Amino acid sequence: MKQKAPETYVQMDDMEWAPFPEAFCDGPIKWRLLNTSPEMGSWTAVFDCPAGTSFAAHFHTGPGEYFLYEGKMDIRGGVENGGDSAFAPGYGYESSGARHDQTSFPIDSKFYMTFLGPLAFINPDGSVIANVGWQEAEAAWDAFLQSR
Ligand code: ZN
Repeated sequence: MKQKAPETYVQMDDMEWAPFPEAFCDGPIKWRLLNTSPEMGSWTAVFDCPAGTSFAAHFHTGPGEYFLYEGKMDIRGGVENGGDSAFAPGYGYESSGARHDQTSFPIDSKFYMTFLGPLAFINPDGSVIANVGWQEAEAAWDAFLQSR
């Protein structure tokens, strides 16, 4: 019989916020890595997105689920521009392959998200700049912890 993966727990307020890499966002977005699951190929994080910040263009290689617990998130430009907007408290499911060229936060916002498979940051032509899967997320988080 295979071993079960270990159970984990983190006390979020005891964690520091790490700056999210500048290459992947515009403005001072911060994040906390809560979990990675090699067996699922998933990673789970919370993001602190001050008013006026945005994520760089990306697509979701696998599906993802989020819970916006504070603020507002405009996806694909927001409802005013033909996309969607999430208002806290709001839940969203991003399908595998969902492409998000414009994800922005008009007011201070925070959300929790689990990504199944890598988040692929892309050029305007859709070519991939970087894949951020559980291993890359964990490496970035570990580098942050060791830099303190
Ligand atoms: Zn997205």
